Amino acid sequence: MVLLLAGCAAKPEESASRTVFAMDTIMNLTVYASDPAPALDAAVREIYRLDAMLARGTEGSEVYRYNHGGAREGELDELLTLAENIRDSSGGAFDPYLGALLDLWGFGSGAGEHRVPSDEELADVSALLDLGGIAKGYAGQRVLEVLKKNGVSRAVVDLGGDVALLGKKPDGSDWHVAIRDPGEGNYLGILSTSGSKYIATSGVYERFFEENGIRYHHILDPRTGRPAESGLVSATVICESGVWADALATAVCVLGVEDSLALRDSLADTVKFDIIIVTEDGRAIYTCDGLEPDESSGYAFERAS
Ligand code: AMP
Ligand code: MG
Repeated sequence: MVLLLAGCAAKPEESASRTVFAMDTIMNLTVYASDPAPALDAAVREIYRLDAMLARGTEGSEVYRYNHGGAREGELDELLTLAENIRDSSGGAFDPYLGALLDLWGFGSGAGEHRVPSDEELADVSALLDLGGIAKGYAGQRVLEVLKKNGVSRAVVDLGGDVALLGKKPDGSDWHVAIRDPGEGNYLGILSTSGSKYIATSGVYERFFEENGIRYHHILDPRTGRPAESGLVSATVICESGVWADALATAVCVLGVEDSLALRDSLADTVKFDIIIVTEDGRAIYTCDGLEPDESSGYAFERAS
């Protein structure tokens, strides 16, 4: 009888991990399940599928085809509709049509040399789809869906610094996620959270070049066509939607502290999200519970109301 019961009990959960290179970054997936391998395989296939679909510079990708006169349909159409919705609700701070502008600065995937474009070039630039600001968020969100469909209820997916979480830790407690510190390559604090969450960080320190002693970074303000000058060094956004989190992290870098906090209030009925902002003058402002600031980071932490 005892043996029979043991035989009927669910197989114990085990963890399995996989590392993949996609979307120009190293991703690491860890899932907990009684049979993790098939779920991991499906998740990795999904990442590669989206990488192939969204890479603007890859001939034949759906974004490439769309930029070359192809039809707007299916999954790309849905993602684009959401991206345009985020553009409109962020007052244009996030804009999925900056491809040609990014190319001008040498930050695009059609990328040439880094250089400062002339005012005429900036005024003249055409609209070209670039989903670099949401590709990882969409991938993270889709990966969680694929994992859930394969019976996984807990997972940690690191998409090159952005993190997608599912469920709770095997012992039932919250996940602990280190929030990146833009200054020291250390961490700003530890966030405890659970459930389906996406934690996206955008920083002006991630990609940049210098010309005549001036630093030009890769987050562009669509209103000026130039690198955003909002007084922020980095923005982390925590949201149940990966696409919103990823896009909003970029938008917050464009908008700065006050406008970002106002945006969070104005979107309260549409999407709930939290923000952790690091400013150029050494402040860290956050709206979330569950953040244990690392005081040794040297930032002055302020809880936004
Ligand atoms: P992220 O690393 O998520 O902040 O995304 C940055 C990438 O998004 C850049 O490398 C560009 O491809 C693109 N990007 C830059 N500025 C913007 C913007 N204002 N709106 C949308 N995408 C942007
Ligand atoms: Mg982003």
